[in-house]
Amino acid sequence: MLIEGGCAISQSRWSSLVETVGWPLLLSIPFGTVAFLAQPGPTWLGDGMGMAALLGFATALVARYRWRRASSDVRERLETLSQCTPDLLFETDTEGVVTFANERAINVLGYDPSTLVGQSIGDLTEGPVPILDEPLPAGDTMITWNTRWHHANGTDTHLTTVLTSMGSREYPRGLRGVVRDQQDRLETERALRESQERFRAALNTARNGIMLVADDGHVLLSNEALRRLLGRTELEMSALTVADVVPGRYVDQFAALMASRMWSDAVPSQYELQLQAANGTPLDVEITLSPVREDGHDNGTLIEVHDLTESRRTSETIRRMADYDRLTGLPNRDLFDRHVQRALIDARYQGRSVAVLMLDLDRFKLINDTLGHTSGDRLLRTVADRLTSHVPPQHLLARFGGDEFLVLAPDLGGRAAAEGIARRVLAAFREPFDHDGHQLKLSVSIGVAVVGGEQADAELLIRIADAAMHQAKNQGRDGYVIGSESASDPARLRLELESDLRAAVEHGKLEVYYQPQLDTETGVVLGVEALLRWPHPLRGFVSPAEFVPLLEETGLIIGVGETVLRTACREVQRWSTDGGHPVRVAVNVSPRQLLVPNFGEVVRGILEETGLPPQALELELTETAAILDLASVLGVLGELQALGVTTAIDDFGVGESWLVRLSDFPVHTLKVDRYFVSGITEPGNALAIVEAVIALGHALGLLVIAEGVETEAQLIALRAANCDMVQGFYYAPALESGDCVRYIEERAAA
Ligand code: C2E
Ligand code: CA
Ligand code: CA
Repeated sequence: MLIEGGCAISQSRWSSLVETVGWPLLLSIPFGTVAFLAQPGPTWLGDGMGMAALLGFATALVARYRWRRASSDVRERLETLSQCTPDLLFETDTEGVVTFANERAINVLGYDPSTLVGQSIGDLTEGPVPILDEPLPAGDTMITWNTRWHHANGTDTHLTTVLTSMGSREYPRGLRGVVRDQQDRLETERALRESQERFRAALNTARNGIMLVADDGHVLLSNEALRRLLGRTELEMSALTVADVVPGRYVDQFAALMASRMWSDAVPSQYELQLQAANGTPLDVEITLSPVREDGHDNGTLIEVHDLTESRRTSETIRRMADYDRLTGLPNRDLFDRHVQRALIDARYQGRSVAVLMLDLDRFKLINDTLGHTSGDRLLRTVADRLTSHVPPQHLLARFGGDEFLVLAPDLGGRAAAEGIARRVLAAFREPFDHDGHQLKLSVSIGVAVVGGEQADAELLIRIADAAMHQAKNQGRDGYVIGSESASDPARLRLELESDLRAAVEHGKLEVYYQPQLDTETGVVLGVEALLRWPHPLRGFVSPAEFVPLLEETGLIIGVGETVLRTACREVQRWSTDGGHPVRVAVNVSPRQLLVPNFGEVVRGILEETGLPPQALELELTETAAILDLASVLGVLGELQALGVTTAIDDFGVGESWLVRLSDFPVHTLKVDRYFVSGITEPGNALAIVEAVIALGHALGLLVIAEGVETEAQLIALRAANCDMVQGFYYAPALESGDCVRYIEERAAA
C-alpha cells in the first residue's frame, strides 16, 4: 500500500496512473473537468414548444441523464482521488481565502480541513502568493511554487505547491492547489536511500565480483570485489562496457553468452574465461550469468565473477607436491616420465634423438653414513643446485630417488650430443662442494640411453641408462657409459656376454695388463699386479668386474686363471732376462681356483716352465677365500708357502673375516682397499681405518700396500701413515706389457 487514508489502490495501479498522465496532471485534469462540466447551465429549458421542442426536450432529457451520470461518475472519481492522494488539495477564492481542503490537510499541515477553510493562503505561507498577485502568463495553466508553509504546530516546512488558476483570465474565480506531502516523500526517499545503502554494503561485502550489465553491454553496477580485481574505480567502471573488461579474444564468446537464452531460465550458467585488469593483465575467472527479470522483462544480466587465480595457485601447489621432489624441489620420476613420453613423440616426428642420463653419486652412502642423514640431505640439495646450474635449461633435471638423478635431453642430434651432456655433468663435479665448512670432493657415475625414432618408452630408457650407470660404476666410477637396449636386459646381456666371453677365451682374446706397485718412500717400482683385460669388438674394454664373476660362475676361471698366471710369470720373467729392473708379480686368484685339488701342482709347474723365481710371485686372495673350506685352502696355501710363493690379502678392510683368519693363514701382504684410500683426505673414519690396518699389518710383520691411490694428497697421507707400497692411477693404471716395462725403467732411472 502506497497511500495512507484507508484508500486501497495497489502499487502497480498507482504507478501506472502516475506513469500515464504524470503526477500533477493527474490531479489537475479531473479538476479541470469539474470546472468544464460545471459550465453548461440548463439554458435549454426555456426553448420554444412544438415537435421540435418536444424532440429537443427528449434529446435534452437524454443528454441531461447522460450528463448527470457522467457528472456523478466524475464526482465519484474525484472524491476517491481527493481521498486517496497523499497530497493536500485546496481551493481558494480570488482573495486567496481557502474555500475547500481535503482530508490530507491534517497530515500535511496539521489542520483539520474545516479549520483550514476561511484562512488566507497568504497567512499560511511566506507570501507573496503567485497568480493572485500576478496573473499567469498566457498559455500557462499551472506553476510550481516552492515556499514555506506554516504548520499548525508552529513549525515551518518547505513544501512544493502546484497552483492553477480557476476561471478565465478575464473572470478569475480563484486558485486551486496541490501541496505535495513532502514528508511522506522524504520518508520514502530516506527508506529508499537506506535500502540502497544496505544493498550497496551487501554488494561490497560479497567476496566474489558482481556486475550488472545492460543488454547493450554497459556496466550498470559493480561491486568493490570486482573493482579490486580489475583495478578500476567505481567511476571508471560505470563508463565501461563488457568489451573493456574482457580480453579481445573473449569478447565474442562473452557477447554470445549474454545473448544466449540457454541461461535465461533461471538456471545460472557458469563459464571459465578471462577478464582483463585495467593494466592489461589477463585474469582467470569463472563467471556465473543470471538474467535480471523485472515485470517479466529482461533487464540486463547479473554477472558474478569468481577469481580462479587463488584456487589455481592452490591446485598448482598440490600439483607441485605430486610432481616434485620434496627435498630438492626437482621434478620427480612421474613428471620426468611424462616429459620423456612427450619428447619421444616429438623426436619421432622430427627425426631427432632423445637421451636419458642416469646419474648416481659415487660413494654417497659412505658420506651419508659419516655425516649423518640431515647433513647428507643438505648435501643432496647442494648437488641438485650444482646440477641445475650446469644442465642446459632445455633439458629436464629430475631426482630419481636417493642419490640418483635423471637428465632428459630432448631433441638431440644423436649419440655424440648425448656424450657432450654426460661430459658436462662430469665437469660440474670437478669443483669441490662447500659443505658445512668442509670441501667435499664428489664424483658421479653416469649411464646414458640414447634413442632415435625407434619405439621406446620412459621405462625402457631409464632401464638402459640404469644398466649403463652400473657399468660406469664398475669401470672405476667418475665416468659415463653409453648403454644399449640389450645392456638393459640383464638376462639377455649375460647370455650375450657369456657367449662372447667363451669365444674370447677360446681365441685367446683376453689380455693381461700390469699395474705398477711402488715403494711409498722412493717411488721405485717393486712389483706389478696382473689384471685381465678384455677388448670387446663392440663394447670396447669390458671391465673384469663384469666378466670375472661370469668366468667364475661358468667355471671358465679355472682355465683362464691358469693362463693369466702363466702369462704373467712368463712376461715378468722375460722383462728381467731382457735386463730390466727385477720386479715381483701379483696375480689375482679366484676362490674357485683355490679349490682345484692340484692347484699347488699347477703353480709349481708354471714356475718351472717360465723360470720365474717363486719369491717373485704373489697370489692375491679375496675375502671369499677365507670363508671357503678351511682345511683344503690351508693345504694349498701350505704347499705354496713351501714353494716360496707369497700370498696377499686383497681388498683388506672391506669384510671382517680376514681378521679372524689372519693368524691361521700364511700371509705376506695386506692390500688396503681403495674404498678407504679414496676417503683418507676427507672427513670421516677412512684415515683412521687405513692407519689401523697399516699398524695391524706391521704388528703382524706383514707388508702393507694401499691400492687405488689417485692423488698426491692421498700419497702424502699414506706416507705419513707408514704405508709400505702404493698402487693406483696417481702413478699408473694397468699397462700393456711393453708400456709397463718402459714405465718401470723410467721410474728406476728417476
Ligand atoms: P682388484 O684386484 O681390487 O684390482 C684393482 C682394481 O682397481 C683394478 O680394476 C684396477 O684397474 C683398479 N685400480 C687401480 N688403481 C686405481 C685407482 O687409482 N683408482 C681406481 N678407481 N681404480 C684403480 P680392474 O682391472 O677393473 O679389476 C677389477 C677386479 O677384477 C679386480 O679388483 C679383481 O678383483 C678382478 N680381476 C682382475 N683381473 C683378474 C684376474 O686375472 N683373475 C681374477 N680372479 N680376478 C681378476
Ligand atoms: Ca687384486
Ligand atoms: Ca683390490
